Amino acid sequence: MNQKSFDVVVVGAGNAALCAAIAARNSGASVLVLEKGPQHKRGGNSFFTDGAIRFPFNSLDDLRVIIPQMSDADAANIVLPAYTEADFRADFQRITEGQTDPVLSDLLISTAYDTMVWLHGEGIQFDMIYDNQSFIKDGKHHFWGGLVVKTVGRGIGLIDALNARATELGIEVWYNAAGTELQKDASGAISGITVQTEGGSQTVAAKSVVLACGSYEGNLKKRIAQMGAEWENAILRGTEFNTGDGIDMALAAGGVRHGDWAGGHAISTDANAPKVGDFTQAGDIFKKSSYPLGLIINKEGKRFVDEGADFRNYTYAKYGREVLKQTDATAYHVFDGQVADLLRSEYREELCTVHSDDTLEGLAEKMDVDQAEFMKTIHDYNVAVQPGDFNPQVLDGKGTVGITPPKSNWANTILKAPFLAFPVTCGLTFAFGGVKVSTNAEVVDATDAPIPGLYAAGEMVGGLFYKNYPGGSGLASGAVFGKLAGDHAGAYSVSD
Ligand SMILES: Cc1cc2nc3c(=O)[nH]c(=O)nc-3n(C[C@H](O)[C@H](O)[C@H](O)COP(=O)(O)OP(=O)(O)OC[C@H]3O[C@@H](n4cnc5c(N)ncnc54)[C@H](O)[C@@H]3O)c2cc1C
Repeated sequence: MNQKSFDVVVVGAGNAALCAAIAARNSGASVLVLEKGPQHKRGGNSFFTDGAIRFPFNSLDDLRVIIPQMSDADAANIVLPAYTEADFRADFQRITEGQTDPVLSDLLISTAYDTMVWLHGEGIQFDMIYDNQSFIKDGKHHFWGGLVVKTVGRGIGLIDALNARATELGIEVWYNAAGTELQKDASGAISGITVQTEGGSQTVAAKSVVLACGSYEGNLKKRIAQMGAEWENAILRGTEFNTGDGIDMALAAGGVRHGDWAGGHAISTDANAPKVGDFTQAGDIFKKSSYPLGLIINKEGKRFVDEGADFRNYTYAKYGREVLKQTDATAYHVFDGQVADLLRSEYREELCTVHSDDTLEGLAEKMDVDQAEFMKTIHDYNVAVQPGDFNPQVLDGKGTVGITPPKSNWANTILKAPFLAFPVTCGLTFAFGGVKVSTNAEVVDATDAPIPGLYAAGEMVGGLFYKNYPGGSGLASGAVFGKLAGDHAGAYSVSD
């Protein structure tokens, strides 16, 4: 068989990889994309997203550049605070407790808006997140918290649009094709990659390789070794194919680990969700994120986190780990009739598991909880609730006194039927551990010297997220570092 040869080989076919492939092709490079999964399971974790994407903007006019279909009448009905680069930076610092790599997160923050404009130019369509990130007040949509834009058609729409653009540009994609080993020439520069396909193993020659094939969340052994034994019990929300292959290849080629290797993005997800992301479902229909409006109670009938510590976008990715620590890795999101209409749409999905009753006692009987303790917890909480104006759009300060943990915002009494309890478990989204890259998305070695011809993007970039994560940053990171890797790999590969 003649050896195949490309300027750039991109490993993976999620958001980061396809952004890299398109950018490299735009530089004039010939590009091959390798996807480990079959075509009907393409798109990686990016496929499962809501398409919610975080980037800074100064006004609604900035958003209308990438949402040209928004009419003047639509715009007049939107109330939108600016989300500046300084706001995004402050969120990164606060959420990661100051541990984020300042150079890499600054790069993400300062190039995210321009990358959105680039994506729009490549045919990706965006819209406002009317359903989950805004409330209607006086007939207007009030947005909050900086995460206000999504891709049309959620992650599935994003992956379809990126693939359509890749096809238009003549980018070749091989499915059932796993990158397994990088090849180097005598000078130490990347010269190709070994690929495992259904037909066997072959080496593809390449002037550069972009690794964009996720972290190790899909590999049980690795996640137990890095994150702890309890992670065996977590559901995998996304693709089964992100097993750390790219990280292994980068480390074998001289790259170094970077970031929070013990941490990961983990949320509350339906206790009966599939054990691994189901590509036949329309994205992630199992997540559960309205707990700031209610309580989270474990099987012992006790609360264990401050449900109202912050907006959902700043607590959801770390509270999955807290659920994992509970008996049977299970807890309940509990609400009453006062907030039932405010719950996010996922609480109304057909496959959603829910117990409901007209009395709290009746509800407790349907749950697998210590019923007496459950009733006491609700009673003590109701007594602790302070007066104030309940307002889910702002940190309303309507909290509790005298209970531990407190509920700092949105503390309403649980008094009005129907009473609802949603059983949840921990859903792991992705692992934070990755490799170190330069500001050109080059994989660097222990001396910070780039490995010639080797780039990384997306989840594989370590150092951005520690302990926690600002919602919508994964797609932004994939797009920013994907485009950057593709730009530089393309230029490097066509330069002589
Ligand atoms: C259910 C869910 C919902 C989410 N919602 C959001 C959201 O709304 N907003 C947001 O910003 N983030 C969200 N995230 C996080 C987001 O998906 C990720 O941060 C981001 O999409 C990762 O992009 P990526 O391109 O790095 O990886 P992926 O999209 O996972 O792509 C990696 C690809 O590499 C392939 N691959 C793996 N190994 C190999 C190999 N050896 N050879 C070839 N191919 C390989 C995989 O099959 C996969 O296609 C969500 C994640 C999940 C799971």
